Order: sequence, then C-alpha cells, then structure tokens
Amino acid sequence: MNLARDNYPEIRDAVRQLCSEFDSAYWQKIDEKRAYPEKFVEALTKAGWMSALIPEEYGGSGLSLTEATVIMEEVTRSGGNAGCCHGQMYNMNTLLRHGSPAQKKKYLPKIATGELRLQSMGVTEPGAGTDTTKIKTVAKKKGDRYVVNGQKVWTSRLQHSELMILLARTTPIAEVKKKSEGMSIFLVETKSKGLDVKPIRNMVNHETNAVFIDNLEIPADNMIGEEGKGFKYILDGLNAERILIAAECIGDGYWFIEKSCAYSKERVVFDRPIAQNQGIQFPIAEAYMEIEAANLMRYKASRLFDEKKPCGAEANMAKHLAAKASWEAANVCLQTHGGFGFAAEYDVERKFRENRLYLVAPISTNLILSYLAEHVLGLPRSF
Ligand SMILES: Cc1cc2nc3c(=O)[nH]c(=O)nc-3n(C[C@H](O)[C@H](O)[C@H](O)COP(=O)(O)OP(=O)(O)OC[C@H]3O[C@@H](n4cnc5c(N)ncnc54)[C@H](O)[C@@H]3O)c2cc1C
Repeated sequence: MNLARDNYPEIRDAVRQLCSEFDSAYWQKIDEKRAYPEKFVEALTKAGWMSALIPEEYGGSGLSLTEATVIMEEVTRSGGNAGCCHGQMYNMNTLLRHGSPAQKKKYLPKIATGELRLQSMGVTEPGAGTDTTKIKTVAKKKGDRYVVNGQKVWTSRLQHSELMILLARTTPIAEVKKKSEGMSIFLVETKSKGLDVKPIRNMVNHETNAVFIDNLEIPADNMIGEEGKGFKYILDGLNAERILIAAECIGDGYWFIEKSCAYSKERVVFDRPIAQNQGIQFPIAEAYMEIEAANLMRYKASRLFDEKKPCGAEANMAKHLAAKASWEAANVCLQTHGGFGFAAEYDVERKFRENRLYLVAPISTNLILSYLAEHVLGLPRSF
C-alpha cells in the first residue's frame, strides 16, 4: 500500500530511510523514559533536514515550506514524533522573513551546521492563554539592551535549543491604538541569565516548560523586525506552524490507516480476518477519505505560503481539518486493534496520545472556528 506519496519522491525516500533507523522500539523506549530523542534529532540535523528552509547562501538547502511539510509528514508517518523537532521549521520562517541581514549572517550558518538550534518559541502565558494580546511579559529598553520580566508557559524544546523566539510587550496595552500593537519579538540565547526553566510533565512525551523571566537582558540588536510589530510577525510564523502541523497530522493519519489495514487483515476472530467485517472496513475507509480531503487543503495552504500570498484562512483550515481527520483515524485504529491497541508495544496508544495534542495546540479548535467565522464569513466579532 502506498497512499498519497506521489510527490517529492526523493525527499520522501531519504527521510523515510533515515527514520527507518529509529524504529518502534526506539520511540517506545524514549516515550517510556520521557527522554528527548536526541539521536534522532542529531541524525536529522546531520542529514541537513533541520536546515531545509535555510537559504543555500547560509549553508541550508533552501527548500520551500511545502517541501519542509513533506519532511515532517514522513517523520510522523514512519511512526516517529515530530514534536521534538518541528519548532526549528516554523521558527525559521520568522527569522527568514523578518530578521535583519546581520541576524541572519550571525545565526543561520550555525543553525545550518547544527551548532545552534532554534527550536523554541515563548508566546503563551498562564494568565493570558489564547488571548495573546494580554501577555504580561514586558521588555523595557535600557541603552543598547532590553530588560525582560515576566512568565511563559508551555515553552517547548527550550532545554534542547540554544535559541528561542520570545514575545514580550514593549508598549503597555493602555498606550496602543490596537491591542495587537506594542508587542515585539526577540531572538534569545537560552543559556542567558534570567531564565528559570521548570519542566511540565504532560500526557505526551513532549519537552515543554514553565519559564520564569527575571531581568533577562537581550541585546537590542536581537529584536526581530520593528519594535511593536511582533504580533504580526508571530502570526505570519504561526501560519507556517499550522501548515507544518497539518502535514504532521496527515502523516499520523496515514500511519493509523496503514496500521489499521495491516492489523485487521491479520487478526482472525470468529474464523475470519476482522477486516472482512464491514463494521471494521467502513470506519477505516471513512477516515481515509477525511485524511485525503484534508491533505488537499494542506497543499493549498503551503502553496499560498510559498507564493507569499495571504494564507491565514487556508493555514487554519488545513490544520483544523488535518487534526480532526487524523484524530478520527487514531480512534478508528485504536478500535480496530481492540485490547491490543492499549498495549505499548503496538505504538497505537503512543501515537494516539501524540496526535490528540493537535486539536489543542498550537491553536485550539474553537479559536480556528472563530477566526473563520469572523475573518472569512464576516460574522460579528465575539471577543
Ligand atoms: C504540549 C504543549 C506544547 C505547547 N508548546 C508551546 C510552545 O512551544 N510555545 C507556546 O507559546 N505555546 C505552546 N503551547 C501552548 C498552546 O499553544 C496553548 O495551550 C493553546 O494555544 C491553548 O491555550 P490555553 O492552553 O491557554 O487555553 P485557554 O486560552 O485557557 O483556552 C481553554 C479552552 O477554552 C477555549 N476558549 C478560550 N476562549 C474562547 C472563546 N472566546 N470562545 C470559545 N472558546 C474559547 C479554547 O479554545 C480552549 O479549548 C503548548 C501547549 C501544549 C499543551
């Protein structure tokens, strides 16, 4: 069975080949120990996949976002968890599109070689939640630096990244015309003094943290783009993130479908393979259809992004459709496996947990629906 793999065969074959060296036993062990898949990320970096989006002049391979999504899709489709490494792909766009030539020259070549990782992004705060404009982390200019104080939550991969993108308020909300103004983004070296990192144990094996920021000093040169425009840049980066996550969900979805088909053909109950029962076949067929449909929107969104055209609606729709379709496929896969779906050695329960995250993060379902209702359908703003 070779479902929807007819584009970018060279990328797919190479990534799949690399992933085959990190088998189910590897991911199970990492999950059991709640460890970071350092060897896997190192191998991806050495092979150049983690610098896919970096232009060739800085030592990367200058691939498009669409090609980057294919890399991520193959990781989840091979049974791996892309949550350990996708940050670099979406953070990269923020630096590439809005960073200064000096910032690019300083950091990109080192990211390309793997000396530095740009895996982390600190946007979410415990007090503000999804209402990002209410963030309380403040950056105040003092001479040639900014001094930052505040708190972030769910800052992922921070302990395995030398660099992070940090969003902070540079003008108080009371002094801006629009609440989305007055926030800025910074490229922060994560070993800087002033960052206290506390890991959050969570449902998935996902390295994520609460971060307490106390007089963190950032050179003013490390502000990305213009002061006060950070929210706009973050949103642009979030479109890339949504499209990449959509592709990861598509990879998960195909993994669940393939796994369901293989197991149901093998498992014999009442003297016949369970796959012979339409009660087993139909949900798999239904889930497959949904994945295929979501995949179309994923490519539409990534094409628009690569053409530098507005793609907010498509990126949101792709992420939503793919997260829903893959979650449906996850449910079907678990059901098809019966009791064995709960046994760690089948990987289904691990992938089930990993996939569930994407209905909540990086943006939750309701917020996507509300974006479409307001910005595409012209319905009244509700918050
Ligand atoms: C494992 C993990 C990793 C993460 N990694 C990162 C990261 O690296 N960097 C980062 O910045 N963030 C990260 N996040 C945060 C993530 O983006 C947020 O959890 C997510 O956006 C939801 O925000 P919240 O948890 O504050 O939910 P809340 O804003 O508290 O919302 C709770 C629920 O209420 C709903 N809701 C809220 N307002 C409305 C409304 N007006 N109408 C209808 N429904 C509403 C939401 O949809 C949600 O379902 C991560 C989260 C997790 C769980």
